[in-house]
Amino acid sequence: MSDSSFAPAQHNEQDIAFMREALKLAQQSFDESEVPVGALVVVDDQIVGRGFNCPIAQSDPTAHAELQAIRAACAALRNYRLPDATLYVTVEPCTMCLGAIVHSRIGRIVFGAYEPKAGRICSNPLVNDACFNHRLTVVNGVLEDECRELMQRFFALRREQKKALKNHKLSPT
Ligand SMILES: [Zn+2]
Repeated sequence: MSDSSFAPAQHNEQDIAFMREALKLAQQSFDESEVPVGALVVVDDQIVGRGFNCPIAQSDPTAHAELQAIRAACAALRNYRLPDATLYVTVEPCTMCLGAIVHSRIGRIVFGAYEPKAGRICSNPLVNDACFNHRLTVVNGVLEDECRELMQRFFALRREQKKALKNHKLSPT
């Protein structure tokens, strides 16, 4: 048995304030017609990296909000490891982003909405897998309703646009 673990913890007031900042970044994705996810990395109460989901604009499938924020934080601190950092993200991270969290040694993660299909922290946990020899404190469900509502609004809008496009194609010219 490895000592890897997933330690659930309670959030504090500051977590809510930082999650509000992450939500603003998610809104940036939304405004650019990307799945709305925002993330930031905080060290010593300072934001050292920000990111918003932008794989379409960047033609980069790895341009998830978490990776953008981690890259920015590592560049700012000139360090490839972030053990004292907290990562805030509006939606539960996927397998790829969990990998980046583990590789960067981020010690604490705070997320908002659950991602029932792709989420790898709580929904389909990979955190306890033996290959991860990393202790991660997890705070989940911070501003969950706001984070989820933004995602739902995005997908509802996208469905409407698809429907409109289909109706347009079906209508006689
Ligand atoms: Zn991801």
